[in-house]
Amino acid sequence: MLKVHSIETFGTHDGPGIRLVVFVQGCQFRCLYCHNPDTQLADNPRAKLMSTQDIVALLERQRGYMGSNGGLTVSGGEPSLQVDGVTELLAAAQAAGFHTAVDTNGAFFDDRVKQLYHHADLVMLDVKHIDDDWHRRLTGKSNESVLQCAQFREESGCPLWLRYVLVPGWTDQPEMIQRWAEHFCRYQTVEKVEVLPYHTIGKKKYIALGKKYPLEGVEPPQPEAVNDVRLILSRYFASVS
Ligand code: SF4
Repeated sequence: MLKVHSIETFGTHDGPGIRLVVFVQGCQFRCLYCHNPDTQLADNPRAKLMSTQDIVALLERQRGYMGSNGGLTVSGGEPSLQVDGVTELLAAAQAAGFHTAVDTNGAFFDDRVKQLYHHADLVMLDVKHIDDDWHRRLTGKSNESVLQCAQFREESGCPLWLRYVLVPGWTDQPEMIQRWAEHFCRYQTVEKVEVLPYHTIGKKKYIALGKKYPLEGVEPPQPEAVNDVRLILSRYFASVS
């Protein structure tokens, strides 16, 4: 059984085509910019328990709309926190002929995560900062396992998308973006790099949870700044959006 925070039935932002996106409950990170703080705790009484069969049944209902490249994406929260259940779900969806993707922060790496990746046709890995100190300050955890996840995916030869959240004052240092790009630019499996501009849509959720918003005063990046970062990354990667 999976603890599910929510489900999006016609997702178009988390992988190719039209997708069923399952947001699972719980996350090991505490990103300062997290726009879904209600997904972070492993135990949330509002999370719904769903079986693999429940979710595959939802997929079947959408099969006709998904086209040839749509399918299932498991996001979060963080899928690796429920690694066995997510692996079972991805394997079942694959067996039923659906394209499978996982959107992960790479917070955890071991043999069970390798199995999870084995059943993901696409891994979308968020590499939030290339510098470990900055990564710890931004997320509360080291980036060591994140880089191990990326390396493992590269060695497996299977598709990988890299995601980078652009946060003014935190992840927009040009030398760090260059270092990030240099780390991954020789990877053969990277099909795409996505730059995701920081936004403040989640602010009201912190207020509702009685929490202080961690990035008070930080404004979303200007479109020009986002373009500049995409330009830097375009020197290293064939597909940047
Ligand atoms: S990894 Fe995602 S869900 Fe987890 S804290 Fe960071 S932004 Fe939030």
